[in-house]
Amino acid sequence: MEYEVVIGLEVHTQLNTASKMFCGCSTKFDAPPNTNVCPVCLGMPGVLPVPNRSAIEMSAMVGLALNCEVARWSKQDRKNYFYPDLAKDYQISQYDLPLNGMGYIDIVVNGEPKRVDITRAHIEEDTARNVHTVSGGFSGVDFNRAGIPLLEIVTEPVIHSADEAHAYLTALKQILQYLEVSDCNMEEGSLRAEPNISLRPKGSTEFGTKTEVKNVASFSGVHKAIEFEVARQKKILNEGGQVQQETRGWDPDKGVTVGQRQKESAHDYRYFPDPDLAPLVIDEAWENELRERLPELPAARRDRFMSDYGLNEYDADVITASKAMADYFEAAVKAGADAKPVANWMQVELLALLAERKDPFIECPVSPESLAELLGLIADGTISGKIAKDVLPEMLSSGEGAKVIVEKKGLMQISDTGAIEAIVKEVIEANPGPVDDLRNGKGKAKGFLVGQVMKASQGKANPKMVNELIDKLIAG
Ligand code: ADP
Ligand code: MG
Ligand code: ZN
Repeated sequence: MEYEVVIGLEVHTQLNTASKMFCGCSTKFDAPPNTNVCPVCLGMPGVLPVPNRSAIEMSAMVGLALNCEVARWSKQDRKNYFYPDLAKDYQISQYDLPLNGMGYIDIVVNGEPKRVDITRAHIEEDTARNVHTVSGGFSGVDFNRAGIPLLEIVTEPVIHSADEAHAYLTALKQILQYLEVSDCNMEEGSLRAEPNISLRPKGSTEFGTKTEVKNVASFSGVHKAIEFEVARQKKILNEGGQVQQETRGWDPDKGVTVGQRQKESAHDYRYFPDPDLAPLVIDEAWENELRERLPELPAARRDRFMSDYGLNEYDADVITASKAMADYFEAAVKAGADAKPVANWMQVELLALLAERKDPFIECPVSPESLAELLGLIADGTISGKIAKDVLPEMLSSGEGAKVIVEKKGLMQISDTGAIEAIVKEVIEANPGPVDDLRNGKGKAKGFLVGQVMKASQGKANPKMVNELIDKLIAG
C-alpha cells in the first residue's frame, strides 16, 4: 500500500516581553527558581490579571506577517485541568475566537514553491516547570516561567514530508526573528515545535488517525521524529493494525517516539471565557499602526538584495537567513564596500571564523564598517586578498582595525616597481630551468616563477606587477 504523509505543526513561541502576560514579573530566563513570581502568576485567591499590551501587539504583528486575518474582537478563555505546574488549575488561552485567524507562509522546499496554510495564531500563558532532582529524591516546581506570554501558531494539515516541515519551521523562525518578537532559542524553550502526523492511502481524501509528538528540542529532531513516526505508523497499517490517537514523546538519544497518553479532546478541558478579562479589541487604526511597524520581511529583503545589490539567489538566501547578517551586509555596503566581496567575505571567512569561536553572527566582534575598511585595502591595492585572510582573524581576536594591523605588521603590498624588480631578478637568476622553459613557450613555468616571487616577498608583492615584470624581464 502506498501512503500519503499528512502533517500539521503546532509551534509555541515565547514572546520576548520584559514582563509576563498578566502580571509585572520579569521574564528573565536564568533567574533562581521562584524569584520571578507574584500572587498573580502563583494563582493566589483574589488576584486579577492585567493583560500585557506589548505581548498583544507582538502577537498581532506576527499575525500580519503570516498573512493572517487579525480579529477585530477576540477573547481569552480558561483551559481547565489539574497539574502541579498549573497553580490556578487553568491556563489562560484562546479557544474559539483567536487573535489571528487563517493565514499562510510561502516556502521553498528542495527548489519547489509551497504555500503552508496557517489555521490560527493565538495568545496563551506558559505553565510553570516541574524540576525532578535525581539526587535529592524530590520534585520541585519553578514558577518563573508561569505566565510568560506565548504565541501558539498552528498550521492546517497540509505538510506532506519531514523536509516540508523543516522548511516551514525554518521560514517561520526567520520571520519571528526579523520581527524581533522572540529569540527562538529552542534550548531555552522559547520555541517549541510539535508535529501532528498521520498517514492515509494515496488518493484518499479522508484523514487517518494522528499522533502528536512532544518534547522535540531542535528542527533536526522534528525531522527525525516525523520520519520515525511515518515508519512506525506505516508498519502498523501494513500489518493490518490501527494507529492509536495519542501524544508521544520524542527520545533523542534512542531516536524513537514513546507513547505518553491518550489524547484528550477539547471538551475535557471545559473551556469558557475568562470572566476576569475583557475582550481583546483591535480596531482598524491600531491594526494599521502595527502594520506600519512591520520590518521588511525575509522574502522581500531577499528579493531586494538580488535586485539592488546584484546578489545571486544563493548569496541572497544565505545573507538574509538572519536579520543580523542582512543588517551587517547592508551596513558594510553603506560604509563603502562593494556588495559582492562583502557577501563573499561574510559567507566564507567571517562565518568560518565565527563558527570556530562558536559566536553567533549577532556577536561578531568585527563591525561592518571594519570589514568595509579591510575590503577597501584590497580594492585600492594596499594589501592582497591573501594577506587580508590573515588580517581578518587578527581583527577578530584583537579588536583592532584593518589599517592599524596592516601598518603595525608592515603587510602593505609592495607596489614599488624597483623593489619588485629586484626580487624578480633574483628569482630569474636562481631558476634558469623554468626561465628557459618560459622562453621556449611553456606557459606553465610562469606560474612557478610568480609563485617564487610571491614567496620571496612574503606574499606582499603586487601580483599584477609581478606578472608584468616577469614578462618584461624575460622577453627583454
Ligand atoms: P487537537 O485537538 O488534537 O489539538 P487540532 O485539530 O487542534 O487537534 O489540530 C492540531 C494540529 O494537528 C493542527 O496543526 C492540525 O493541522 C493537525 N492535524 C489535524 N488532523 C490531522 C491529521 N489527521 N493528520 C495530521 N495532522 C493533523
Ligand atoms: Mg493541539
Ligand atoms: Zn507574577
